[in-house]
Amino acid sequence: MKKFKTESRRLLDLMINSIYTNHEIFLRELISNASDAADKLYLASLTDSSIGVVRSKLGIELSFDREARTVTVSDNGIGMSKDALDKNLGTIAHSGSLEFREGLAGAAAGAAVEKDGEKGGPSTGSASPASGDPAAPAGASAPAGDPIDIIGQFGVGFYSSFMVASKVRVVSRAYGSDEAWAWESDGVEGYTIAPATRDGHGTDVILTLKPDAEEEKYDAFLSEHELRRLVRKYSNYVRYPVRMEVTKSRSVAGVGVEAADESAPAPAAPADAKVEYEDYQETETLNSMTPIWKRAKADVSDEEYAEFYKGDFHDYMAPAATFTLRAEGTLSYDALLFVPAHAPYDLYNKDFEKGLALYSSNVLIMERCGDLLSDHFNFVRGVVDSADLNLNISRETLQHNSQLRAIAKRIEKKIVSELGTLCSEDRECYEGIFECFGRGIKYGIYASYGALASTLADLLLYYSAKEEKMVTLREYLDAAPSGQEAIYYAVGDNEALLTKMPMVRSVRDRGYDVLLCTQDVDDFCMSVMAAYDEKPLKSVASSDLGLETEEERQQRETLASEHEKLLDALREALGEKVAKVTVSTRLADVAAGISAEGPLSLEMEKVLSAGPEGQFPRTSRVLELNPEHPVFSTLVAAEAEGDAEKIGRYATILYNQALLIEGLDVDDPLAYAQAVSELMT
Ligand code: ADP
Repeated sequence: MKKFKTESRRLLDLMINSIYTNHEIFLRELISNASDAADKLYLASLTDSSIGVVRSKLGIELSFDREARTVTVSDNGIGMSKDALDKNLGTIAHSGSLEFREGLAGAAAGAAVEKDGEKGGPSTGSASPASGDPAAPAGASAPAGDPIDIIGQFGVGFYSSFMVASKVRVVSRAYGSDEAWAWESDGVEGYTIAPATRDGHGTDVILTLKPDAEEEKYDAFLSEHELRRLVRKYSNYVRYPVRMEVTKSRSVAGVGVEAADESAPAPAAPADAKVEYEDYQETETLNSMTPIWKRAKADVSDEEYAEFYKGDFHDYMAPAATFTLRAEGTLSYDALLFVPAHAPYDLYNKDFEKGLALYSSNVLIMERCGDLLSDHFNFVRGVVDSADLNLNISRETLQHNSQLRAIAKRIEKKIVSELGTLCSEDRECYEGIFECFGRGIKYGIYASYGALASTLADLLLYYSAKEEKMVTLREYLDAAPSGQEAIYYAVGDNEALLTKMPMVRSVRDRGYDVLLCTQDVDDFCMSVMAAYDEKPLKSVASSDLGLETEEERQQRETLASEHEKLLDALREALGEKVAKVTVSTRLADVAAGISAEGPLSLEMEKVLSAGPEGQFPRTSRVLELNPEHPVFSTLVAAEAEGDAEKIGRYATILYNQALLIEGLDVDDPLAYAQAVSELMT
């Protein structure tokens, strides 16, 4: 037995016990190695005509034996010679694949130098595949348009097998050689290499699983279902087929029943028919191979995208929109992004996990990489695939977040621009998207204290009171009469009620449209945005709308001073509840209204008070009275009588009425009800 070097032993121990967080990825690693072996042989065949390999014959086979507790991954790739087994599997952190890749790069560089008339090129190893793990054939580079995806790079993936196996046996025969060798190890002390037999070139990796333990049931890997699941999850887009013999069952002729394929619906059998089943073996290709995101968008049908989306992201509905992105340069990647047609039920849960699936050379690294998406686009699903990622050693995460940041930035831009295009070119589709996810976009603006408004404001839609449909802020301004100095909005529970609000009507009467907002985040979002295209955003409920004409202002001031005593008396009667009582010219046909002074609006107060218990800030409320309304003369008369009790009762009624119109809670419902009753009797 050859012993692992001390350092190697320590490293192996680290590998098995600390580097990986997830045991099941051992299969991903073995399949990646098998795919690399197939790629290497294929590449060798491109430059060496004596290698008669057809790519379509290359593949990976998966099998298991419940009795012997073994899982086997076989490939018909390049195979390993005795030396290669020793070097690649006997030395931890030695990667034949990395050497191969470097050979490729070197060969490509060499070829380039040669073109300049100067002989350069790589001096890496022999070009003969029979030597086991060849450096890339001289002069070869990954063929354009048909790239290979060598996955291995760290020289440790293989050892992840020891997380689940107590013994690993590797039987390999190098291409072009007629001897096979078996490498065997328990992953603790060392390994042996002995002669073996194998039909044809390639490698079998045979894992004998550890006995089940309390905390880990290794038995789980001895099932078709589990192996299929793991291949689909991690290795679905490996370019070579991963096949497994599976047991299927079919009905055999009972009385009046034809043999039927299990995928076809069973024919209706007569009630007394006895249907018998028999098992049969079938080879199933477990992976779908072609990564759809590597194909040009023009070559993929909507149906294909929809099928992929529904299958990989577990949605029963086709996506509302599909975006693709291909970046080339030092960090090349493909991204395929989907906007779902409906919001997932848990979108607003704090446990909702945003993220895109991150692949490296077609192999899944992370199922939901959150760093790739901003919070306001957390609803976007999809895939990012890059061969240029610096993965950490377990290939479960990245070494450098700067790469993720760079990709995330591009993706953010892409989503903004694609949504913008949809908004102007396919409004119906965009409205559907906005209905599902607009709240999150508004929240993004709010959470950034308005900093994101410059990128996101154009994606907002609001219901226009005038147009009676959703409009963008740009469309609102384009339709505004000249001289309109602000964008007016109103916040409330629903559009029908808002349309009837006196303050909305009074702004509309002046010829201005009002955006009707019905989401809790609206007022907050509007107030942090403050303005759009230099036009201030103004809530119709704020006390200083600035729409009064000079004449109206004078009239109001005259009335206010004329009735100063009445206004003071009402204010006094209401105590702390209001900061001010005024007369107003914007109340249309209601007797009284309520507005807020200062930065906090009544709507914000409503949202905040619905939050967690405790102190929440209160607005400075202003009770506005309509001097045109008959009730006003009643008030004037009561004041003239000097009946303080009556004034107090009227004040309570008007104040509470105004709260009700605003959709706010009445402070003291009993006092209000009694005041109304007294008035009626
Ligand atoms: P990596 O794949 O990152 O290089 P591994 O520890 O998984 O690291 O494998 C070490 C080396 O062993 C590989 O680089 C490759 O040269 C060789 N190897 C592993 N599996 C196979 C295989 N199925 N066929 C041929 N060579 C293999």
